[in-house]
Amino acid sequence: MRKLKWRIAAAHMAVVIVGVAVALLAAWIIATALVPSSIQSQLATLRQAQSQEAIGRATEALTAAFGRTVFTAVALAALGAIVTGVASSLLLARHILRPLQAIGTSSQRIADGRYDQRVAVPDVEELAALAVNFNQMAAALQDVERQRVALIANVAHELRTPLTALGGYLEGLMDGLLPADPETFAQMSQETRRLKRLVDDLQALSRVEAGQVPLEMERVDLRQIVTRVYNQLLPQAGSKDLAVRLHPPSTTAQVMADPDRVAQILTNVLGNAIHYTPEGGTITVEFSGSRETVSVSVSDTGIGIPADALPFVFERFYRADRSRAHRSGGSGIGLTIARRLARDMNGELRAESEGPGKGSTFVLSLARADA
Ligand code: ADP
Repeated sequence: MRKLKWRIAAAHMAVVIVGVAVALLAAWIIATALVPSSIQSQLATLRQAQSQEAIGRATEALTAAFGRTVFTAVALAALGAIVTGVASSLLLARHILRPLQAIGTSSQRIADGRYDQRVAVPDVEELAALAVNFNQMAAALQDVERQRVALIANVAHELRTPLTALGGYLEGLMDGLLPADPETFAQMSQETRRLKRLVDDLQALSRVEAGQVPLEMERVDLRQIVTRVYNQLLPQAGSKDLAVRLHPPSTTAQVMADPDRVAQILTNVLGNAIHYTPEGGTITVEFSGSRETVSVSVSDTGIGIPADALPFVFERFYRADRSRAHRSGGSGIGLTIARRLARDMNGELRAESEGPGKGSTFVLSLARADA
């Protein structure tokens, strides 16, 4: 792979060499073709001059003719060198700039919404790096666009289900097929609540993804936040006859984080554990840590997550079991927001599961305050 600086230097050298060669060639042609005819006649006059005065005049004329000839030769040679120099440098510049022009054209097409544009990687090092970066950027944009289209499709799909249900109830009422009793209205109200929850989740997601959620990072004790969330969700777990065990850490659990956001993440994760664990199950909250991080894990003995679903649980609208989630009203956005918040706080949220029926573990890791 060649370097651009050597290419430019070589191009300049080529232009200089062509210019000099043309100048020499032109000078030689002019010297052999012009000099004899103009100078020879002056020399002949000089040779035939009889008097001192005639010699003087002939010498003067010869000198003038020589001067004119040299000037003409140099001027014509220089002109030839300039013309060929400019022509060859334009040709070389065009050759070197071609990859840049290709990138320019492709970026214009991308700006027009054609995200499949890629450029060929040239064999000049610096331009190759630029082309590779450009292609990576184009691929990233294409991915964002794909996600945007998928998001719109998902939102439309999610909205359709409760809207169809509501439409069905209204038609049933109008046709007299459904009784206008409290039960029908309660079911309609449940569908509107589902719609409202979806819209609220979407708004929260868009705020998080746009980086509009202000984070107030401070030194906080993770134990305190975990205990608070644990106490808040205990009644919910109790109503399902779940045993919830909290193992406080043996060492300090000071982290740098926004306490409200940490509580939000834990509420989501613990809420999911309660939701996806059948009656009589157990939920265990434990701490662990390394030199740089403190982690809190929420393990349940619930329905578990299939191995092929594990990488997707943090994706928008992902639900391992769509029909069950729809009945329970889950939108599949909670974990997307939770992971995003964790990452915004320089932390991480990950999921583990041995498989269906074998329970799940969600681990939130945050940066240790004194690391
Ligand atoms: P949802 O509102 O559907 O719970 P989440 O984003 O919180 O949305 O979760 C996404 C999906 O991840 C859930 O639909 C479920 O399939 C799976 N999931 C999350 N937590 C658990 C858990 N503790 N046990 C089993 N599956 C879980």
